[in-house]
Amino acid sequence: MADYDYDLITIGAGSGGVRASRRAAALGKRVCVIENLRVGGTCVMRGCVPKKLLVIGSHFADDFEDAAGYGWTVPEAGPGITHDWPALIKAKAKELDRLEGVYHRILRDNGVEEITGTGRIKGPHTVEVDGPDGNTSLSAETILVATGGWPYLPDIPGIEHAITSNEALDLAELPKRIAIVGGGYIAVEFAGIFNALGSDVTEIIRAPQILRGFDEDVRDVLAQEMEKKGITIRRECIVRSIEKTETGLSVLFPYGDAIEVDQVMYATGRKPNTSGLGLEEAGVTLNGKSAIEVDEFSKTAVDSIYAIGDVTDRVNLTPVALAEGEAFVRTVFLDDPTSVDYTNIASAVFSQPPIGSVGMTEDEAVVALGGEDAVDVYVSRFTPMKYTLSGRDEKTIMKIVVDAKTDRVVGCHMAGLDSPEIVQGLAIALKCGATKAQFDATIGIHPTAAEEFVTMRDRRGYDS
Ligand code: NDP
Repeated sequence: MADYDYDLITIGAGSGGVRASRRAAALGKRVCVIENLRVGGTCVMRGCVPKKLLVIGSHFADDFEDAAGYGWTVPEAGPGITHDWPALIKAKAKELDRLEGVYHRILRDNGVEEITGTGRIKGPHTVEVDGPDGNTSLSAETILVATGGWPYLPDIPGIEHAITSNEALDLAELPKRIAIVGGGYIAVEFAGIFNALGSDVTEIIRAPQILRGFDEDVRDVLAQEMEKKGITIRRECIVRSIEKTETGLSVLFPYGDAIEVDQVMYATGRKPNTSGLGLEEAGVTLNGKSAIEVDEFSKTAVDSIYAIGDVTDRVNLTPVALAEGEAFVRTVFLDDPTSVDYTNIASAVFSQPPIGSVGMTEDEAVVALGGEDAVDVYVSRFTPMKYTLSGRDEKTIMKIVVDAKTDRVVGCHMAGLDSPEIVQGLAIALKCGATKAQFDATIGIHPTAAEEFVTMRDRRGYDS
């Protein structure tokens, strides 16, 4: 057997790369991980974690208002209640530093060697690292590419004036007016954050509705709630160009109209980080979206090179990258070929209100199960108890999609307070193949919103 420097070289110390590296090292393998930015990757440094901290921080605006309905004396918004954006960003940065320290410690404690630099594949077993001390050539029996993705911005005039979620998380000051382009996860989450903190938010979407791919009822409810909060959604609209003006940025639309804002943020999807890695020269194949093509065991076209996470553009979620990392280690180092089950992966959108979703949407079920008669739908729409005394006009919607023939629940969707927390539990039920009769036989926890999921009896609820 050839004598390599390592058993495993991982390129990219994000969620997937760190998980795979430390699991392999814990098995006694010689592992190094190469990273050119901060350890923790998109999720911890530029995505899920800082975003959620900002969501939590911004939601206090509603909480202060709601407190008045419960007898608290709350100063009027304005001089009474103020928000210090730099203080929030500083506190968030401190927490990210702490988390980065935790990641370094996990790697160190498991015996993973960290190498700072940019990795480039030079052959089936060779990686060149361009680091602070120049170039080094390293070899390993197996190479794992876990380089994630990066925001994609369309090439329009003035795009250099736009920011992405990367910069939005570290702005020196809160923009008074912001235009957010895109209707996906990131766009609606940041629209909620900036709106709650007092910015004037315009979300610009090219489609008729936000969040393509989510259940139609849930999309409609979230859009209504966002608009009630004062977010302007410009539908079926594209940006022609962005121009710098004396007082801000002008966003120009195709018919000559324009809006002026202080920041323009693009959240128009992400692209896999595959360029400059030497992948194709090494024989690794990419698909039309520049993502690495892999088999069910995350193996690329080259036997010794594997890839996991967003760089493979399968299901771009942190827990999926973690599962792919675990499966990779079992496959390669425990001689136990393991693939990830991609069915019924729950996900959440941390919009305000948030969304939780697992399984098929109603439309997907109608197609998959053979028509409308094959699908039973249960819907409940109500005002959360918290808002009864506070008087907040914000609705929750819950929806169950059932295979009429087998009675199996094939989808659960919710927009409203606490939905990500509630839907995580339902995801277990769907994974176990629960039927609607079993949902009905489950006794609810009272008084909660979650109990609605086990008390919906009338098909098609409110809109039948
Ligand atoms: P998404 O793919 O979710 O959404 C991209 C949005 O941009 C869509 O509304 C799309 O419109 C629009 N768009 C794409 N190209 C253009 C263009 N040229 N001009 C105008 N609009 C355009 O991407 P995000 O950037 O929001 O998020 C990236 C990924 O990150 C997500 O897919 C998700 O996997 C992950 N993520 C997960 C989160 C979570 O789990 N809570 C949170 C944040 C991110 P259309 O619909 O018409 O195609």
